Amino acid sequence: MAHPQPRSHIDRIPTYVPGKPPTPRAGLTTYKLSSNENPYPPLPGVVEAAEAAVAVMNRYPDMGSTALYDALAARLQVPVSDLVAATGSVALVYQLLAAFCDPGDEVVYAWRSFEAYPIAVTAAAATSVQVPVTADGRHDLAAMAAAVTERTKVVIVCTPNNPTGPSVTQSDLDAFLAAVPSHVVVVVDEAYLEFVRMDDAVDGLATYRAHPNVVLFRTFSKAYGLAGLRVGYAVAATPIAGALRAVSLPFGVSHIAQAAAIASLAAEDALLERVEALTVERARVAADLAAAGWDVPEPQGNFVWFALGERTAEFATACDAAGIVVRPFAGEGARISIGEPEANDRLLEVARAWHL
Ligand SMILES: *Cc1c(COP(=O)(O)O)cnc(C)c1O
Repeated sequence: MAHPQPRSHIDRIPTYVPGKPPTPRAGLTTYKLSSNENPYPPLPGVVEAAEAAVAVMNRYPDMGSTALYDALAARLQVPVSDLVAATGSVALVYQLLAAFCDPGDEVVYAWRSFEAYPIAVTAAAATSVQVPVTADGRHDLAAMAAAVTERTKVVIVCTPNNPTGPSVTQSDLDAFLAAVPSHVVVVVDEAYLEFVRMDDAVDGLATYRAHPNVVLFRTFSKAYGLAGLRVGYAVAATPIAGALRAVSLPFGVSHIAQAAAIASLAAEDALLERVEALTVERARVAADLAAAGWDVPEPQGNFVWFALGERTAEFATACDAAGIVVRPFAGEGARISIGEPEANDRLLEVARAWHL
């Protein structure tokens, strides 16, 4: 008997490995450092705004996300026509590929980078062209520009790069954009933008204003602490933004998520304080690791990368025994989110005891 057959590329879609919750340990507080979540509770006013929205869940959300677009347009000083709200910025990856790639078209990105990229590219029946990151976990932008062919429709620059940590500089991005043909869409995935503290940092909005082929992906999941509500947005010139909107799921962003995102934007001062506290913790962790002899790539997001190769699983097990769960990438390394100070202390204890 013949069975329905999914399209042939469906079998080749890699599996997304979500960060695990910690193993409960009697008498020990455990911490989840496996998903780059914000350890702080929602910002002041956000739970109230979300609760008010819950009360009208019998109604569909505003499909046009009007109030959220207005708030973002005012905050970012961009026209509403250049904004696209989506169910997390991971949805924007799918939408962009659906809008710009025919089967077999190429998508260039660094590797290792965000694990959703190969999943989304394969799901779109497009072809991944992965350009290895350098030994210190940075994008090799020259090699990425050289990897662009006639089949390339999209290039993704993940900055700061998940999971390795470093950011590209504005100068490097400018040189890269000058080298990439203007008909290729260049995604700048800025999921960790708020945590960046460096010279010559990328100014995403200035870059989008200067380049009609650039699209910024941003999210409320990380710094804003709304990972559970699924809301992110893109900023791009109107033709790209319009194409992204055309392929969105109708009513995807719930009105609870819209309300929480708007309230979070209004609480930006509190947000920036928390982000600052996390970057201070990140600097403390990085300095202590260096003092203990570790050589980790420059962390610009809310996480650090331990390139442990074959010893990755062993390290993850040692962390788990200490009550912290990390995100191991088998045979490559472990990504560990910056959490509460006590959680970071646990990580440092494991790292200091580790025989390098
Ligand atoms: C977490 C993350 C995202 C987006 O997550 P959403 O929750 O879908 O908004 C996008 N890009 C990178 C690199 C990330 O790490």
